Amino acid sequence: MSDLPNLTVVDHPLVRHKLALLRSVDTPTKLFRELVQEITMLMAYEVTRTLEEEEVEVVTPLETTTGHRIAGKKLVIVPVLRAGLGMVDGVLRLIPGARVGHVGLARDEESLQPVEYYFKVPSEAEARQFLVVDPMLATGGSACAAIARLKSSGARAITYMCLVAAPEGVRALAEAHGDVALFAGALDRQLNDVGYIVPGLGDAGDRLYGTE
Ligand code: URA
Repeated sequence: MSDLPNLTVVDHPLVRHKLALLRSVDTPTKLFRELVQEITMLMAYEVTRTLEEEEVEVVTPLETTTGHRIAGKKLVIVPVLRAGLGMVDGVLRLIPGARVGHVGLARDEESLQPVEYYFKVPSEAEARQFLVVDPMLATGGSACAAIARLKSSGARAITYMCLVAAPEGVRALAEAHGDVALFAGALDRQLNDVGYIVPGLGDAGDRLYGTE
């Protein structure tokens, strides 16, 4: 997408196959939850491709050689509550040592702006890589607020990952946080007049937790 330069769509066949199942109105809660984890794990493989490495000496049964390991402090996964929680285990399956921070944002009914109700991330934020996760990037309001809050706590290296993005949200994120790389499983057509992504998959939080 040339007018959305901050966006990488992870259009791997397995991601696309599982996204089609995820979108279906017939997919029940248990399967929906499993698919969110599986798609997140597949996407995390791509998202982490640029992690910094360092060389390590490894003694094999035959000789000493040079291997590689991920350098620096532990990566921090930051789910945006509540739907983002459904993606955490998918990343942890690939990076079990990752830390997990949390950002809770609710929409103020008068101003319609996101208001923080919970925030906790590990110390030494300036030295860590952050991966913000939320299944749906719709208007971008929560994503921009969560990233701004992380930056105010000292975070410098931030990547954002969602399963389905709307062009409106991608543009909002690029405008507010041009330094943040954005990964999505799919770029959908648009937002409808009540803020749902179409074709989308409905309310990701409700479908994850069976609260429709
Ligand atoms: N949040 C959701 O869960 N779904 C949408 O379509 C938009 C925002």
